[in-house]
Amino acid sequence: MVTRYRCTACGNLTRFDVVTTRRTRAFHHYTVGGDLRVEDEAVLDESVDEVTCRWCGTGTAVERLDDATVGATAGDDGASGAGAPEAT
Ligand SMILES: [Zn+2]
Repeated sequence: MVTRYRCTACGNLTRFDVVTTRRTRAFHHYTVGGDLRVEDEAVLDESVDEVTCRWCGTGTAVERLDDATVGATAGDDGASGAGAPEAT
């Protein structure tokens, strides 16, 4: 799931600086020579600390969009499968 944002001051929907704190676990795979390759990184915990609008330069008017707001046009109109035959 993708978290989306909107700046209510300028209408920006696409350009934000996002500061995130993330705790991860990863497999650090070294060669004998000491080169590191990080593999299988998994996010254990993640929190967004600050979201700033790139256009305004402040985060005071930035709001997070809910799924309900974003997907408002994709609702189903409650068509049900009434009348399905019942095998006895
Ligand atoms: Zn803005």
